[in-house]
Amino acid sequence: MIKKIVTIPNKILRSKSKRIGFVDDSIRQLANDMIATTLKWDHDSEFGAALAAIQVGEPLKLTVVRNDFDNAKSKKFTALVNPEIVKTSTEVVSDIEGCLSVPGIYGRVKRPLKIKVKAQDANGQPIRLSLEGFPARVLLHEIDHMNGIIFLDHIKDSSQLFNIDKNGSLMPITQTKKDAIKKTNHLN
Ligand SMILES: [Zn+2]
Repeated sequence: MIKKIVTIPNKILRSKSKRIGFVDDSIRQLANDMIATTLKWDHDSEFGAALAAIQVGEPLKLTVVRNDFDNAKSKKFTALVNPEIVKTSTEVVSDIEGCLSVPGIYGRVKRPLKIKVKAQDANGQPIRLSLEGFPARVLLHEIDHMNGIIFLDHIKDSSQLFNIDKNGSLMPITQTKKDAIKKTNHLN
């Protein structure tokens, strides 16, 4: 089932997600719905790298992450339950992020280059992941969602915010959008 994606400034995005005690069919169904919702959202040059349950209004520690970020045609995702960062590198990298809950806006965010994550898979089995670069960034972004944080919170300088055109090129953000973000954020 396609779900409605919650977007800013909806306060639901600020709620903290709960740990999932037991991975049952209802969780697997929610994960499948989140995958379908992300695939439905894909358009023009934009495609969703991942989605957290809170983005469809469910405050649960569940995310679905695309297996191949470089190929928009790849429709396979991995569900991660209760993901937790166990280690981050001190080395930090800056890169562009977007979010299905922040339509049309991209921003440059600093994140640790490497992370180690523990989680459960869709069968409730424990898994550990070592991620570097963009995949690490995606997981950090999703875990932020579980703590009520959106990527805009990491950006204090509006020159680091962009709009995207239909060809996927980043453009300086319009004043209207900047003003809209300021209402939900603490931008300078
Ligand atoms: Zn997001």
